[in-house]
Amino acid sequence: MNNRIQGTTSLVALLGYPIEHSKSPAMHNTAFEALGLDYVYLAFGIKKDLLKQGLDAMRALNAIGFNITMPHKEEVVGLLDEITEEARIIGSVNSVKNKDGKLIGYNTDGKGFVKALQEAEIDFQGKKIVILGAGGAARAVAIQLAYDGASEIVIFNRTLSKAQEITNTINNNISTTKAIAIGLDEQMLKEELKDSAVLVNCTSLGMKSNIDQSIVTTSDTLHEDLFVADIVYDPPKTRLLSIAEGVGCKTMNGLRMLIWQGAIAFKIWTGKDMPIDLIF
Ligand code: NAP
Repeated sequence: MNNRIQGTTSLVALLGYPIEHSKSPAMHNTAFEALGLDYVYLAFGIKKDLLKQGLDAMRALNAIGFNITMPHKEEVVGLLDEITEEARIIGSVNSVKNKDGKLIGYNTDGKGFVKALQEAEIDFQGKKIVILGAGGAARAVAIQLAYDGASEIVIFNRTLSKAQEITNTINNNISTTKAIAIGLDEQMLKEELKDSAVLVNCTSLGMKSNIDQSIVTTSDTLHEDLFVADIVYDPPKTRLLSIAEGVGCKTMNGLRMLIWQGAIAFKIWTGKDMPIDLIF
């Protein structure tokens, strides 16, 4: 018998709904296998009203940790034993460590984005960053960038009140960053980008269901000194990234953020570095 899953194998899980599309099982199982770790990562489709039972199951099964995805990232905050300061301010958790039955929540989405920026050698310390979107991912990215040293964050969103909620959180909690919220307006976006170092798309425009869409519709809005990141990774080149490349901007899609948010969770669970070159 040559099966690495044995009676000693510990569980790591993903709880969310739906979960069939997730790349996390492939990512973590590849890493466990490569490092010879006796863990297995499984995804469980848990509907909204069963989240608490899902957490109890993680304790009962002695899972070493788990990821939380849509639609549970916010609701889980109130059900854990402890959460990190960043996760509390972000208001959502995507990774949990089970420490002897005590569930500790982290948010690695924003950290994953910052790590991907650093890997691309983009210096954002003391710089102005423009973010498109104000959903869950935008919130994590904006707050982490503020924590990690961006001096100014401008958030453009279709629903202005959601952008204001994030900028209020930053202005009330992170004194080193000034944050401003603006409704969607491409001319104002162009003005704000003139002295910005990085533009990040955190809307769902550009992903497969909205493939031909982008908040930026003309190359005139951008300038070549701007680093343009899109957290959408499927397709790998969104309309925004095509426009940006046409202007001569350096660009990055969402795949490295996805890998790094997983790698940070992997380290929290196992204490080891994920061999990220083997992933995807
Ligand atoms: P979300 O909470 O649903 O937020 C969606 C955002 O897109 C909101 O700001 C929404 O604006 C905006 N939006 C949607 N349709 C729009 C339209 N037609 N015009 C203008 N704005 C529109 O989603 P999320 O969880 O933040 O995720 C956003 C994207 O990030 C998704 O594509 C997701 O796959 C990707 N993501 C990637 C990673 C990664 O690791 N690379 C991690 C997380 C998420 P309103 O507020 O006005 O509705």
